[in-house]
Amino acid sequence: MLSARVFWQNARRRIASPAQFYTSAPRPQRNLNAFITQDESPTNGKTVAIKDNIITACSPTTAASTILNGYIAPYDATVVKTLRDNGFVIARKTNLDEFGMGSHNQHSAAGPALNLYSRNGEAVSPGGSSGGSAIAVASGECWAALGTDTGGSVRLPAAYTGVVGFKPSYGRLSRWGVIQYANSLDTVGILAQQVDNARQIFRCLDHYDAMDPTSQPQSVRERSRSAERTTEKSLKIGIPVEYNISELSPAVRSSYLDLLDRLQAAGHTLHTVSLPSTQQALSAYYVLAPAEASSNLAKYDGVRYGRRTSGPDALPKDNLTLYAQTRSEGFGEEVKRRVLLGAYTLSSEAMDNYFIQAQKVRRLVQRDFDQVFSQANPLIEAVEKSTMRGSRVDILLTPTVPTLPPTIEEVKNQTPVESYMNDVFTVPASLAGLPAISIPMPLNAETRQNMDSEDVRSVGMQVIAQFGDDELVLEAAEEMS
Ligand code: GLN
Repeated sequence: MLSARVFWQNARRRIASPAQFYTSAPRPQRNLNAFITQDESPTNGKTVAIKDNIITACSPTTAASTILNGYIAPYDATVVKTLRDNGFVIARKTNLDEFGMGSHNQHSAAGPALNLYSRNGEAVSPGGSSGGSAIAVASGECWAALGTDTGGSVRLPAAYTGVVGFKPSYGRLSRWGVIQYANSLDTVGILAQQVDNARQIFRCLDHYDAMDPTSQPQSVRERSRSAERTTEKSLKIGIPVEYNISELSPAVRSSYLDLLDRLQAAGHTLHTVSLPSTQQALSAYYVLAPAEASSNLAKYDGVRYGRRTSGPDALPKDNLTLYAQTRSEGFGEEVKRRVLLGAYTLSSEAMDNYFIQAQKVRRLVQRDFDQVFSQANPLIEAVEKSTMRGSRVDILLTPTVPTLPPTIEEVKNQTPVESYMNDVFTVPASLAGLPAISIPMPLNAETRQNMDSEDVRSVGMQVIAQFGDDELVLEAAEEMS
């Protein structure tokens, strides 16, 4: 039982938990660029800001891309309609990385978004791609916000801005009307100041939707519900050894250890677990997500949606010129990089070595999770008894991101691959479709002492549970908050 903590302690001595609570976030003078479109209508009631890759009827939706300039959807996404039907006020659309591709909200046709916090006078990254939604929540501009999480885009900005970010199990919330990035991973997620606000939105949206072919059918929902548990008894908390990486910053590690201490004191038990395929998960994600993206984004051709090139090529001599010109003007650099990468890994010469291998890794990642959770995966009808082994856990607890947010200047100097590294702790749950939440934990007193007073005050901690165990994730997160 002690081994998990001892393992994690190896890098530094622990500091007693300061039981520190948050003071309100600073109010920066600069424009944080959290919103892409504003609705001037009165905003009494519970306002929910919507990431601008989720369509809202009769108002623009851009996905932060020039290629969708002028696009106005004639209907609401199911999640938006359901919120309206339940009395929530849909006010503003939030900034994001173009089509959800990025980790810092710097790849946006609407300009980069900034965090409320700064280091030596320089803004730090708000995280991405749902950066605008996270900032809107952190600065109190809305009661809650919707984002999308394909590989971490709700959890990462939640961690960097000090709010709660919940990614439900894949298929629980409808994707009808959500602009696709990578269909097999895309999940609507929720950002809020409190776990309970996130839970209210989740319960409001947690329904089967016949319009979304990947919406979880009633039978799977019922199977998950019948297995529902509560945290009345103590939790068995898994500590995955593969997340103890050398890149973990001391600030993150000390907050994590403080939390483990607190949980143990509250009667929960800690268990070291191993998820051996974690190390390959990030590479697999960055093959699969661009492959799906390259296929999804083929429809932006200047004919069916949004913007068309306005030069002489607007009158097609041949469709290829119109298509190429529109796309080269309409997509940003990061989107082009992903489309090229995806087109390559799907090509006949590369398919076997990249796409197929990545699918195999994805299956291994799923299997790793199934082997550590006490709960059976409701998607797998017959649990193979032979794979049962060792002690199993109710939830996994990890940091959400290995480090504190970098400054915007540091982000600019990162290579794309360095930037992809941010997602190393969030991608595995995405590949397996598992529910996961990031909750803010206060930095401990010693860490705070050595930091800029305008800098972040918290670190994101991630709770992951078995597929369908969404309520358990929320409950465990609430207990930790
Ligand atoms: N940062 C990851 C990417 O760029 C995740 C994005 C997301 O979850 N939408 O693919």
